[in-house]
Amino acid sequence: MKHKIRKCKICQKYTLKEICPICKIETNDPHPPKFSLEDKYIRYRVMDAHKK
Ligand SMILES: [Zn+2]
Repeated sequence: MKHKIRKCKICQKYTLKEICPICKIETNDPHPPKFSLEDKYIRYRVMDAHKK
């Protein structure tokens, strides 16, 4: 099992657990590896669609 740093969006604390021990909710990866140029293009396309 990989030890990956995660962050709770409620208490803003970093943890290695998938569930925050304080808030008992799912934690998120603070540095999403999926961020890509493709994602930017999709956002621009969405903005463009809103203009029309
Ligand atoms: Zn928390």
